[in-house]
Amino acid sequence: MAYIEPAPIKDKENPFESMMERFNIAAEKLGLDKETYEVLKSPAKQVIVSLPITMDDGRKEVFEGYRVIHSNTLGPSKGGIRFDPEVNLDEVKALAAWMTWKCAVVDIPYGGAKGGVKCEPWKMSQGELERLTRAYTVKMNDIFGPDLDIPAPDMGTNPQVMAWIMDEYSKAQGKTINAVVTGKPLVLGGSLGRVEATGRGVMVSTLVALEKLKINPTHATCAVQGFGNVGSNAALLLEERGLKILGISDHTGGYWNDNGIDVKEAIAYRNENGSLEGFTGGEAISNEELLTGKVDVLVPAAKEDVITYHNANRIQAKLIVEGANGPTGAKADNIINERGTIVVPDILANAGGVTVSYFEWVQNRLGYKWTKERVNRRSDRIMKDAFERVYKASIDYDVSLRIASYIVAIEKVAETYKLRGGY
Ligand code: GLU
Repeated sequence: MAYIEPAPIKDKENPFESMMERFNIAAEKLGLDKETYEVLKSPAKQVIVSLPITMDDGRKEVFEGYRVIHSNTLGPSKGGIRFDPEVNLDEVKALAAWMTWKCAVVDIPYGGAKGGVKCEPWKMSQGELERLTRAYTVKMNDIFGPDLDIPAPDMGTNPQVMAWIMDEYSKAQGKTINAVVTGKPLVLGGSLGRVEATGRGVMVSTLVALEKLKINPTHATCAVQGFGNVGSNAALLLEERGLKILGISDHTGGYWNDNGIDVKEAIAYRNENGSLEGFTGGEAISNEELLTGKVDVLVPAAKEDVITYHNANRIQAKLIVEGANGPTGAKADNIINERGTIVVPDILANAGGVTVSYFEWVQNRLGYKWTKERVNRRSDRIMKDAFERVYKASIDYDVSLRIASYIVAIEKVAETYKLRGGY
């Protein structure tokens, strides 16, 4: 294969550059003028803070925290907070930009942001995590706000972390402000359906894509990489819609069963044991084998840059639906396109999460609670409409769904920016 260079596997792609490569192609197709191009590519604000935390053994440890606001052209910026040892500024900048494009693709009135703290949350006690989250929130008091910048969960964070953020922010404001953060526990104003929302959006996009490919979902097979909130819910919902889930994986490795993994059983196992390690519902395989296994649909729902120019030519799936943000490096795009594999890109496929975050914020501001049926119905509609918009752009501009989704997003933000004329 022409694209496979004999390079060592160590050359990971920089996620910000991966984002920019696609952005540049889409901007050129759109004929974006230089001024708007410069505005849209530059993050509006980048904040780095140091967080000295007292650990349980009395030691002080200093953590580094980030928040990048990429854009607030469409509205207050929105995006998760990630607790992960690999967090760095370029990653957060890329993830913030992807939030801008994601919100624009699904047409919700938000700009994009992302935050992170470099830490290993699984090695920390609840007390340490709480002190870290509160210290981070104090440093972000003038950044966050329901009309400014609204965090949510991402890798390594969860509804409990959101509850601490809401509490610490409210303390500083002297009143409870639940709309400052989404993905909260239900009793604090969280939305029904938020936990499953990203996985549900992945399921909806998969079904729409399969329909376009004329593949019957009840005859389709699937592998899901990552068994956190997104991967496990996507696997469960896809299984419910009739797909056979042959492979699943988490950081402990992959599990493969030609007769189909029992996803409910795998979720119960993970809930009891903390991970899939030792799961006997499938044969143990490596994460790499999972990505390249023989299935119709591959759902990468773990991290950035797992589909690379080293393995892209071995991927057998006809359809890739990106549950994670940035799972495919830009250098893999051409190989995948040449092989005729269809990719529903991250900024479309995983937008169900931020869509229901938007519903949560709307409900908080209304002081009213929607039923789960209403949440699901409206988010399914938004996902389907977004898919059709992107699909149409891919035909109009003769580009992949990925470039088409950037085109749809950039066009919307650029038009809004020009009409507003500046701020
Ligand atoms: N972290 C999620 C994402 O990457 C959700 C963001 C949100 O709900 O604001 O889309």
